[in-house]
Amino acid sequence: MTDCIFCRIVAGQIPSAKVYEDEHVLAFDDIAPQAPVHVLVVPKQHTAASAQDIREHDAELLARVFLGIQKAAAIKGIHHSGYRVVTNAGPDAAQTVFHLHFHVLGGRRLTGHFG
Ligand code: AMP
Repeated sequence: MTDCIFCRIVAGQIPSAKVYEDEHVLAFDDIAPQAPVHVLVVPKQHTAASAQDIREHDAELLARVFLGIQKAAAIKGIHHSGYRVVTNAGPDAAQTVFHLHFHVLGGRRLTGHFG
């Protein structure tokens, strides 16, 4: 998907501040951080546009994404202090990039902002 910004980041066509990478997952700093630590964790494969598109065959990949979230949190040093994982799906969640991704937010005590 060459018109997908996260596919282009995965392909190295758009620069990103890489936090963690393995065969299946890429984690990089969000360009507009909403917390002292704000990392995006994406499956490299454009398997789903959002959480709403996840299918049975994505189950293993999803587990790998969450292992990547743990790795990114450890690299950023927030694995003990804690963090919030958020995924936006669709218009009412204000999703802007339609390549499944998870926001990992931490580095300060987060308050209960869920809109
Ligand atoms: P969402 O609103 O859940 O679709 O989140 C998309 C996120 O991607 C936003 O938090 C943006 O700040 C972030 N974003 C957009 N373009 C880039 C980029 N080139 N590098 C890093 N983060 C980006």
